[in-house]
Amino acid sequence: MAQVTCSFCGRNKKDVDLMVSGISAHICNLCIDQAHMILGEEEKTKKSVGSKPKFKLKKPKELVSYLDQYVIGQQDAKKVLSVAVYNHYKRLQQKVDPDEIKIEKSNIIMVGDTGTGKTYLAKTLAKTLEVPFCIADATVLTEAGYVGEDVESILTRLLQAADYNVEAAERGIVYIDELDKIARKSDNPSITRDVSGEGVQQAMLKLLEGTIVNVPPQGGRKHPDQKMIAVNTENILFICGGAFDGITRHIAKRLNTQPLGFSKTKGEVVADRENLLQYVTSQDLKAFGLIPELIGRLPVLTHLDPLDKDALKQILTVPKNALVKQYTKLLEMEGVELIFEESGIDFIVEKAVEYNLGARGLRSICEAIITDAMFELPSDESVKELIIDEEYAKSQFDKSKFKRLQVA
Ligand code: ADP
Repeated sequence: MAQVTCSFCGRNKKDVDLMVSGISAHICNLCIDQAHMILGEEEKTKKSVGSKPKFKLKKPKELVSYLDQYVIGQQDAKKVLSVAVYNHYKRLQQKVDPDEIKIEKSNIIMVGDTGTGKTYLAKTLAKTLEVPFCIADATVLTEAGYVGEDVESILTRLLQAADYNVEAAERGIVYIDELDKIARKSDNPSITRDVSGEGVQQAMLKLLEGTIVNVPPQGGRKHPDQKMIAVNTENILFICGGAFDGITRHIAKRLNTQPLGFSKTKGEVVADRENLLQYVTSQDLKAFGLIPELIGRLPVLTHLDPLDKDALKQILTVPKNALVKQYTKLLEMEGVELIFEESGIDFIVEKAVEYNLGARGLRSICEAIITDAMFELPSDESVKELIIDEEYAKSQFDKSKFKRLQVA
């Protein structure tokens, strides 16, 4: 009797679990699995091409008032971002007409201390526009071929955020954090090959400007056989952020050598030394170590103000999803009324400042203070009210192992 073999892979019937016979051909279970996988991928791609992605275009003023609900202060950044984002999406609506003036892309760079709201602003904007959004960290990027992630990996995340809808991803927003960490370090003699600095900046140029990138849908090099997806970055808005520690030295130096820059602002003679970041220009970014080509592709520059006690206090209490509101809601579900006294709030803010944790620390401090109550109260129905004043906050805080936060 003739041997039955799979008509696709040639395997013998005895070497496989199952062989399905057709009129004049056979297929083994392994080939069925593979064919099923191919079908699945095709379906996904078809779906992503078919559905037209939408985004909600809002006017700059609407954008700012939306941001105001969530982000405290940072008026300059809000305004600059809103205008840039509005123009960017208006540009996408422009009809392709060779005679028409071509609006250029307005990628954005934000300079501001860590924990002042850079990521939060970008994320909130993407949310209101209802476009795919992802966060990438510049520090893990390297030039292609080196250990670390290739620059293209940023787009893998955006694709995932867009649920593999390529068209939607191509109108998305990418936030690249810690851009300052890939500044040129050539002043440092111990570095022979600047793998993570200038090379990465170079690799980013095309991505920011607009190019077609073959993106591994599962990311990384772990899945070498995956089918690449072509993504055009021309209409992706890149927002970059960084703390640029030490850039104020460059700003101060420039301001000192250009007295005009000092005296002409609103008739003031002396610049606000407490917040030199507000005077940041692309010249300072260059002095810090960004290559001019990269700066050129990030034409919109804005800064974030440092958060003072007042701002921290507002962050704790005012935004739509402020921490105080969140904890109150949580305990309300438990049938307990949570009351934050002014003195308790001041205590939390002071600790955030003392530990130099900024807005990001507010949550950990609140957790340290409220965890005990949130542990006990669900099992104790007799308690109907919890008041957090300075005394309560302090006693809980002192009990907590808060020293760990100093390391974080
Ligand atoms: P970074 O500037 O380092 O990107 P983030 O945007 O990640 O800082 O801020 C960390 C967290 O602190 C945010 O998720 C947000 O909850 C809070 N936060 C920071 N700045 C503000 C602000 N200006 N208004 C409201 N919340 C803020």
